Amino acid sequence: MSTFTLYELPYSANALEPIISAQTLSFHHGKHLQGYVNNLNNLIVGTPYENMPLEEIVRKADGGILNNAGQILNHNLYFGQFAVSKEDNAPKGKLAEAIIAQFGSFDAFQAEFVSKGTALFGSGWVWLSADAEGGLVITQETNAANPVQRGLKPLLTFDVWEHAYYLDYQNRRADHLNALWAIVNWDVIAERYR
Ligand code: MN
Repeated sequence: MSTFTLYELPYSANALEPIISAQTLSFHHGKHLQGYVNNLNNLIVGTPYENMPLEEIVRKADGGILNNAGQILNHNLYFGQFAVSKEDNAPKGKLAEAIIAQFGSFDAFQAEFVSKGTALFGSGWVWLSADAEGGLVITQETNAANPVQRGLKPLLTFDVWEHAYYLDYQNRRADHLNALWAIVNWDVIAERYR
């Protein structure tokens, strides 16, 4: 039987301050994500999902198994894409070229991404993904959904569930999303895009 484990953060608890406080990070990672991991491990016992890789579960399952597996995949990608805050933080190379080709400019891409994240009603995620031809697309996914369910390769995501920002930004979702650009680790995103 396979058991899923809590994703290990590649930075210290206060590394993303003040954009994501240590308190938010400790609840979000240590309580919310840990909860999804515990739930999934309990739910898959004795099912065909017991020995399946996480992405495959997200593509095939439904109900509680999908919700918890989706949230684990979403959060692993989310927590894995950040680094210490950097001024003029932007992608380079092939990924930067693809963003400009698709959206006109990096600024226009950021504006559309934040706008779709802000407009998403209720809980969910805004994503940048690549299609089979390497083209880029921004999608809104509600609740625990992930772009792999649409055959896309997920590259970058902002979590718009209130648990991701409420302690630090209260109702100011757009302010939180705009602030996140400073801590995106574009080397990780470029690696996912390759
Ligand atoms: Mn979350």
